[in-house]
Amino acid sequence: MNPAPNFERFYSVFRDIVKMVYSSTSLEEVMELVVWKTTEMLNAKGAVMRLLNVETRELEISSAYGLGEKYLKKGVVSSHQVITDLCQRNKVIFIEDIRHDPRVKYPEDAWNEGIRFIMDFPLSIGTDVIGILRVYFSEARKISGEELNFIITVIEQCSCGLGKARLIEEQETKYYKLALQTDRLSALGRMAAGIAHEINNPLAGILLYSSNLAKRVPEGDPIKEGLDIIVHETIRCRKIIQELLGFSKEKEPRKEPTNINHIIEKALTILENEFRLNRIRVQKNLAENMPDILLDGNQMQQVFVNLLLNAVEAVQSNGAIHIRSLIDADAQYVIVEIEDDGPGVLESQLDRIFEPFFSTKPKGTGLGLSISYGIVRSHKGNIHVDSRPGHGARFQIEIPLIRTPDS
Ligand code: ADP
Repeated sequence: MNPAPNFERFYSVFRDIVKMVYSSTSLEEVMELVVWKTTEMLNAKGAVMRLLNVETRELEISSAYGLGEKYLKKGVVSSHQVITDLCQRNKVIFIEDIRHDPRVKYPEDAWNEGIRFIMDFPLSIGTDVIGILRVYFSEARKISGEELNFIITVIEQCSCGLGKARLIEEQETKYYKLALQTDRLSALGRMAAGIAHEINNPLAGILLYSSNLAKRVPEGDPIKEGLDIIVHETIRCRKIIQELLGFSKEKEPRKEPTNINHIIEKALTILENEFRLNRIRVQKNLAENMPDILLDGNQMQQVFVNLLLNAVEAVQSNGAIHIRSLIDADAQYVIVEIEDDGPGVLESQLDRIFEPFFSTKPKGTGLGLSISYGIVRSHKGNIHVDSRPGHGARFQIEIPLIRTPDS
């Protein structure tokens, strides 16, 4: 029992935590500090923080202080009971009967570790419980209402700090991945350009000689059919090579003040027939008051046509495609999203679909997305894909919101 809580100590710990939580961007650092300082503040034996793994719904140990290695090796705690309790109450839970309380998964080990009393604090952001902070005591404790309020305030600060650090880490991972992808794609682009140049000349020769021969061979001659196939396939190769050269040339876009909504409308008109023939429902939500931004309208139209065509091929018939434009004023981006309800992209392929020549279609060239990627990057924008197999795909294009003087 601690009748007169030492509020001075509390406040100094509180200050330390708040300072660290708001200055640190490392999730690990924040978690280490929280378990250590809470133990200190409550004069406890130790503390363990577990964060909820949203996929497995298990509470996984993320940081610990003051407890033996052997006890900690027990690892994850199946979250069901604990989380349900915490969510329902979203408040502190006291565990006094260590040996019989169902919330203690390894009662004997806990007892042997010298644990006699436990307090569970939910770590929540808004109404979402993201984890749990469990504080272990070697003797029973009575906590006054004031003391409890104080501890809860500290824990709330910790949760905010955790949320912030988590968000920063997620963003860092996202941008790291993007940087890797950009590097790999530009190396691939250069390699593809080299190959395309090498192939272009012999291809022109093959096409010239084979079409001359085909013209000279009379209809009905058995080699005529073979020659026609050579001509036809060589033309197909030339088309691929030309597209590839266009992609790798990284043509500087000719940017003019343009309303991106008009470009979307044009791309939709080009594909009107495709939608009608395949009975595809197209839903369109274009941002009102879209300002003119600097972009190359032809190139951007090609991007939208490529992505819409992919969506058509993905949904096949009777599917739905949703295209929307929006303005992210904070991030200073105009965003265009093209979403379909097709089969989506396999997770193992997500990293590869922007590579030149990557295609899962029998007649695909695998160039549509890499060309689109090249165009968007030359506008200093980004393309992201968000997809789960069986739940469609959503491509998001971000173009910097560089307003023209009169928009
Ligand atoms: P291609 O269409 O010639 O295959 P792309 O570069 O346009 O070339 O696309 C590469 C690959 O990305 C496709 O073969 C397909 O596997 C995948 N893909 C692109 N868009 C979608 C989509 N909307 N839904 C599912 N998969 C897609």
